[in-house]
Amino acid sequence: MALKIYINGEFFDEANAKISVFDHGFLYGDGIFEGMRSYSGKVFRLNEHMNRLWDSAKSLFFEIPITKQQMKDAIYETLKVNNIENGYIRLIVTRGEGTLGLDAHLCKKPQIVIIANALKLYSADFYEKGIKIVTASTIRVPADSLNARVKSLNYLNNILAKIEGHVAGCEEAMMLNHKGDVAECTGDNIFIAKNGYLRTPPIDACLLEGVTRNAVIDVAKKLGYEVKEAAFTRHDVYCADECFMTGSAAELIPVIEVDGRAIGTGKPGEITKKILEAFRKLVVSEND
Ligand code: PMP
Repeated sequence: MALKIYINGEFFDEANAKISVFDHGFLYGDGIFEGMRSYSGKVFRLNEHMNRLWDSAKSLFFEIPITKQQMKDAIYETLKVNNIENGYIRLIVTRGEGTLGLDAHLCKKPQIVIIANALKLYSADFYEKGIKIVTASTIRVPADSLNARVKSLNYLNNILAKIEGHVAGCEEAMMLNHKGDVAECTGDNIFIAKNGYLRTPPIDACLLEGVTRNAVIDVAKKLGYEVKEAAFTRHDVYCADECFMTGSAAELIPVIEVDGRAIGTGKPGEITKKILEAFRKLVVSEND
């Protein structure tokens, strides 16, 4: 069935859902987005996604033309008209239609697009067997250039790293920052477990502060694990007992090999499995 796409307050059939070629989101990647999950009709941690979106807009110097509440209503309306209970939602806000020049002031008004789709889950194999990743030579853009906490439409940095992963025969790639510390994967955050405690890079390590990352930190602490947001290197990943990635679409995916080194036993670890199970319970319980 053709999807109905929300554009600036109206719904269009997907074939007619169109944006001007003068939109600076298209011309320059000048815009922001969110990727969200709905479970049984409720969007997981919607407020956190809204806060991140508004922070991204603030940082990039543009104003979203509707309120957070109106945005939330628009998201639920999009789910409703498409009859989606369990799905993935992509929300895009661009700087808007402008001229061929860079001048942001000439862009008339930010444009809002919402696409909701039934979820294409990652293959079950990923969760059962885990995935292999490599370190990309493309490093994360330093925060002084473009803060990775801004979820901008300009994903070339991540896309180049992901291509490196694919060239190496892997689904994903791990990205380092300009200091050589681990930052994140191309579209997911990263965790390691060693001697029963967990580590994930701190938010100033050039990474997107994932909604799932933060939920997983809470879940892990509730399960009694110590979690440190502390910088680490590739060496720490190679020598970890377990490693996993987190993201709205992925939830938690075990990583079993990094740069040819088996992590721990080379199979998804017990801590990873326990946290995934608890995370899946959390997303359901938050629906109550
Ligand atoms: N890092 C990057 C670069 C991302 O694009 C994403 C979202 N796909 C994440 C981390 C995970 O963020 P979240 O848990 O909010 O989906």
